[in-house]
Amino acid sequence: MSQISKRRLDGKIAVVAGSTMGIGYAVARRFAQEGAKVIISSRKQCNVDAAVSKLTAEGLNVIGLVCHVAKAEDRKRVFDEADKLGGLDILVLNAAVNPMAGMVLDCDESEWDKVFEINVKAAFLIAKEGLPLIRRRGGGSIVFMSSVVAFHPVNFAGAYAVSKTALLGLTKAAAVSLATENITVNCVAPGLVKTRFAEYITETEAIRDSALALIPMNRFGIPEDIAGIVAFLVSEDARYITGETIIAAGGASSRL
Ligand code: NAP
Repeated sequence: MSQISKRRLDGKIAVVAGSTMGIGYAVARRFAQEGAKVIISSRKQCNVDAAVSKLTAEGLNVIGLVCHVAKAEDRKRVFDEADKLGGLDILVLNAAVNPMAGMVLDCDESEWDKVFEINVKAAFLIAKEGLPLIRRRGGGSIVFMSSVVAFHPVNFAGAYAVSKTALLGLTKAAAVSLATENITVNCVAPGLVKTRFAEYITETEAIRDSALALIPMNRFGIPEDIAGIVAFLVSEDARYITGETIIAAGGASSRL
């Protein structure tokens, strides 16, 4: 907390979907450190409770709710809470799944549907449902969480990589349509970040070394590497940026 000297988000209300651990948690924490009131959420009550107690112990202003992003009633509860707080300035769509590690055309239909239901459709629905609250505040920011594999698919990322490519298009399309409304829409594409989601790669010795070999910086990211970028994108410092994706991957290859 003491390292964050900026208070760029004073008075802002933020929702970070999928934020009780990993990158989403670091984003929520950074927003709160910069002065925002943050609604954190994820599927499991125990994870929500643990995250809220850690953040409030740091003196940060957060509220926690259970929200499975694919459940309409859960999403409504989050936006009702934001409404009670006064509206919404910042919306981050961070939840994602990758139920299948393998090449894309080996993915079966149910896995494909699951990946697109959570990673793309739920992200679209949350953005759509949060938009009226953002409009009521006279503007704000939406950030989607993609991945470097959106640009540079690798075999083990299969359908997940394709879903993350879809978010690049969603970012562009939404940004253009909201550009005159003082609403920015941007995207972040992390490389490998040390979280539960990526631990099979970052913590398995044989795999870890070959993954590291693809990263010129020769280290995995940490959630705080991504949180600072998201905080920048939703701050006044980024007010002339919309429709863009920032890749943060330690120099890993990132071209379509
Ligand atoms: P993580 O450590 O597993 O954290 C994911 C968070 O989202 C948890 O709080 C989890 O809590 C919640 N969550 C999962 N599914 C959810 C759902 N259906 N509805 C609501 N919340 C849900 O993952 P992470 O590595 O931080 O990943 C966050 C984002 O970064 C994802 O979009 C991922 O694709 C992207 N990303 C990660 C990496 C990486 O290397 N880690 C790289 C590129 C992109 P519950 O279990 O309680 O729901």
